Amino acid sequence: MKFCVILEGKVAIITGGAGGIGSATARLFAAHGAYVIIADVDDKTGERVALQIGRRVLFKHCDVAQEANVAATVDFAIERFGKLDILYNNAGIASPLDTFQNLDMDIYDRCTAVNVRGVVLGIKHAARVMVPRRQGTILNTASIASVVTGGTMKLIYNMNKMNLPGLTKIAAYHLGKHGLRVNCISPAGIPTQMIVAWHKQFALEAIDMDTVEAAFLRCSPLDGKTCTTEDIARGALFLCSDDSGYVSGQNLIVDAGYTNI
Ligand code: NAD
Repeated sequence: MKFCVILEGKVAIITGGAGGIGSATARLFAAHGAYVIIADVDDKTGERVALQIGRRVLFKHCDVAQEANVAATVDFAIERFGKLDILYNNAGIASPLDTFQNLDMDIYDRCTAVNVRGVVLGIKHAARVMVPRRQGTILNTASIASVVTGGTMKLIYNMNKMNLPGLTKIAAYHLGKHGLRVNCISPAGIPTQMIVAWHKQFALEAIDMDTVEAAFLRCSPLDGKTCTTEDIARGALFLCSDDSGYVSGQNLIVDAGYTNI
């Protein structure tokens, strides 16, 4: 079968690109001909992942909550490649299992700074360079927590992620006039470092990837399969390529129908 390359020559920034979903997406985008900048606070992993994927991928330290970092990352793309075609706002952090009565507002501020402010800053600085060219796509990673609540949803994370489909619609409207598309993608549970780190930080007992995978498998509506980072990368590829040329303001939920149940 002929492999069809659909991002040839495109320049993409992926925030949280050192992590599970981000690195899988960086790998797929590079395989499809894109130049990718992995933007992450984890320098060691980010540099290693960039090196592993190959010459098309660079690492840039970026804390998405810091405007100067985000601006510098966009400027880095312009310096190195002369343009920015794709911004994938994917960095995110989890919050504790909480109640409204006991909400820790310091944790709220910290999570919101990454999960919401980081996305707004990304859109702002990508728009700065994309609008004059009237070209570009922005993708935000939300979550199934952007559409459902209850159960084991972490309150702050849930509130943060529910912001993103709305923010995406607003950005799609305002930037659509300038030729830009903005979408978000909502993964189901995937056993990545974020989940393991969450258990280590906030839950009573430590947990390993196999246990997380088994738990996700038990509640998956698709027999024998859980969501993978590659499932999200393929959705991201579609939403960031010309294949989705008339899709904007949407939230692609990649959950095998979990949120319908
Ligand atoms: P991950 O922990 O593997 O990756 C997250 C990456 O974000 C890490 O490399 C981390 O260093 C980076 N990061 C954290 N804070 C940052 C900051 N301030 N600036 C820049 N980078 C920062 O987790 P993942 O599962 O790949 O998560 C990626 C996205 O997917 C997140 O937005 C997360 O909320 C979302 N998501 C994950 C799941 C899941 O089950 N894994 C489900 C739904 C949504």
